[in-house]
Amino acid sequence: MRKPLIPVSEAIARIAEAMRVMPNEEVSLSEASGRIIANDAIAALTNPPADQSAMDGYAARGEDVSDLPCVLRLAGESAAGHPWTAPLDPGTCVRISTGANIPEGADRILILENTLSDHNSEQIEVLEASGKDQFIRRKGQDFHAGDILVNQGTRLNGRQIGLLSAAGHHRLLVRRKPVVAILSTGSELVEPGTNPSAAQIISSNSIMIAEMVTSMGATAMPLPPIPDHKNALLDAINGITNADLLVLTGGASVGKHDLVAGMMKDHDGLDFWRIAMRPGKPMIFGHITIGSVPSEPTTTPMLGLPGNPVSSGVCTLIFVRAAIRAMLGLSPDPVTRKAVVTTDLPANDQREEYMRGMIRYDDASGLNHFTPLLSQDSGKMKDFALAEALMIRPAHADALSAGSMVDIICLNSADS
Ligand code: AMP
Ligand code: MG
Repeated sequence: MRKPLIPVSEAIARIAEAMRVMPNEEVSLSEASGRIIANDAIAALTNPPADQSAMDGYAARGEDVSDLPCVLRLAGESAAGHPWTAPLDPGTCVRISTGANIPEGADRILILENTLSDHNSEQIEVLEASGKDQFIRRKGQDFHAGDILVNQGTRLNGRQIGLLSAAGHHRLLVRRKPVVAILSTGSELVEPGTNPSAAQIISSNSIMIAEMVTSMGATAMPLPPIPDHKNALLDAINGITNADLLVLTGGASVGKHDLVAGMMKDHDGLDFWRIAMRPGKPMIFGHITIGSVPSEPTTTPMLGLPGNPVSSGVCTLIFVRAAIRAMLGLSPDPVTRKAVVTTDLPANDQREEYMRGMIRYDDASGLNHFTPLLSQDSGKMKDFALAEALMIRPAHADALSAGSMVDIICLNSADS
């Protein structure tokens, strides 16, 4: 008897558990975008480094401006990068610019529009004073040396990299990107740029998966497609070096030319096969020893995805993503949001379904509305490319009426 299909959540957990977390490497700030920071990033510097002015104007002492209007003598200037270092004498002020250090004794910033001065005059007439801490940025009000600024496991963006540079970082410790080798199998496949005969199709999976895994934080290693011959498959696999994960597409099912499950079984590397999922049922997970040097075999995790491009794509978004996230030390579970489904749905069978559809934000309710595409035919690449979200229809779910809340995975959002 056939083994029962593996639930999607169990498959995600088993894949994640089998992955090795990538070692760390140091990168420069300019290489850090999108990388996962390996440790809590601590400020080496304090910002601002001293009490500074937030406006252009004059720095003065509060007791000198308590009776207004009054006149102060201009003693000099504190400019950004060129501070006035002497304490402020009674009855005096210094011209100050935004970002300049506030002289000792000064606790008021008088903004230009509240003062009068003749050109070249050393006399500043003060019409209105400001409050004690107004327009003053206190030392360390942004962050202090020793503060944790970015938590370990964060995918770095420009704002965070800017912050870390301001805090004195020059190089950052990040997780090494996992290298994902992508190999399409199928005697009908030719590479993009080739003119296919009527019996051939372009191998679109490799480029699609390469793009997806790159945006997930991996390094893609797409390889040329190989025909459905056992030896061609073994030769291609043996030629792969330094991959952390091998993604095969095609040949995952039970047809006469489907070699991948057989190969995994032959090599005792099959962890599980066949998922309770639509699309994507024939997916395989296992480990395979690759490399042509018998004395130095490396066992590499392998995901065998169905060749059908929509199935391959959905499996990449769920399972290849889980593997990559686990290797980066991140949660492997999909990021889901709630949406209101706009159509009635029939009860579901044992396979969790990932329905392609469109989302529209509804102003009146403040909720996202999800409309499944009319056809859920997994042969329709155009619909898959057009789709904005995948709706997760749990296994054995009851029929749903329009207006019910469902879980969706947004396809165009950055939170992959
Ligand atoms: P298979 O999983 O090998 O049975 O393939 C299922 C379907 O997907 C067949 O129609 C294949 O021609 C197609 N297919 C397989 N591999 C690819 C690929 N790399 N790119 C595009 N379509 C593919
Ligand atoms: Mg095939």
